[in-house]
Amino acid sequence: MSASTPSFEQGPIRPPSEAHSLLVRVIRNCTWNRCTFCPVYKGSGSSLRPLEDVLADVDAMAAAAAVLEERGVGAIHSGLVPQEAYQVALFLQDGGRTVFLQDADPCAVKPEKLTAVIRRVRERFPSVDRVTTYGRASTLARRTAPQLALLVEAGLTRVHLGLESGADEVLMAIDKGCNSGDLIAAGENVVCAGLELCFYLMPGLGGRAAAAAHVAGSARVIRAVAAAAPGERPLVVRLRTAAVVPGTPLAEREAAGEFVLPDDVEVAQELRDLLGQLGDARLELRSDHALNLLPGLEGSLPADRGRLIALLDEFLVLPRDEQARYAVGARLGIYRSLADRLDAQRRATLEQQFGGYGQPSADELLEAATALRARFL
Ligand code: SF4
Repeated sequence: MSASTPSFEQGPIRPPSEAHSLLVRVIRNCTWNRCTFCPVYKGSGSSLRPLEDVLADVDAMAAAAAVLEERGVGAIHSGLVPQEAYQVALFLQDGGRTVFLQDADPCAVKPEKLTAVIRRVRERFPSVDRVTTYGRASTLARRTAPQLALLVEAGLTRVHLGLESGADEVLMAIDKGCNSGDLIAAGENVVCAGLELCFYLMPGLGGRAAAAAHVAGSARVIRAVAAAAPGERPLVVRLRTAAVVPGTPLAEREAAGEFVLPDDVEVAQELRDLLGQLGDARLELRSDHALNLLPGLEGSLPADRGRLIALLDEFLVLPRDEQARYAVGARLGIYRSLADRLDAQRRATLEQQFGGYGQPSADELLEAATALRARFL
């Protein structure tokens, strides 16, 4: 048997929209690693990777891609390429168009170095038309226009940025390491540089106590950045309903009674309030994570605002027991939309789940649905 092509590193996560992207690990783990809700890198230190190692990884992925194109995915099972080339196979199957730079904040790497990585990616994979990266607000707020122009010129096209909340009191409570001014500055820097920007917003992250501030602060930041984005590249806001993951600092706060995670009815109300407070902001709203209760809550704002508010109202006006049953059904993957409640077979499948639990109350079901969110992280 021929020897395998060289191995290469892969980081642990990427956004759902990058499921078929080539993953290039520029920096290991998270340099900040303090956000209280985040379980991803807790217990792992961060380190910069030498530029030559990252470039060698890109070359190794190109070598694996050449074998995969000739021999197909069987090359993984027969050891002609390393196991991690499975992601390269996904990338090729999807047309070889998208690349994602890992891990938490590749933008913290010197722009000249990041530029060299992006150039190497573009050279080795000429079919690529989208190169994206995660970036922290505290980093991007400090990047100058010429620095960002370097990255754009090299071929970076999109930044994924964890907004989480736009409220200073929430950002402080979750130890995000930035304030709302940083978020606005970072967002404006990115969109004005000619990059697409995806904000990740976490409804429910303020807890019950700061829900109103969470909505108002988030709406303020989103409005400011959306106003700076050009018409051809509107801000994209992706929803990630907050969850409490065991072992995180947020779980400790919850256990100490200092934080109460809003249930799905309260989160739906937050989203309705947010849509109201976004006014005429122009943006794309996406609900692309299994954590979210209503996958259909997507559209172009402000044009689709009425339709999205109507969708939330359809849930909010249900009897509480129906809301609770829908929330559990959605978390168990039985329901994908509110209309699924009317499907007798799906409903029967859901009721079977309650078989051994007597007749749980609506509050108990909502509590169960809220706890189930952690399964998606
Ligand atoms: S910056 Fe991102 S990866 Fe790092 S701790 Fe916060 S949420 Fe997690």
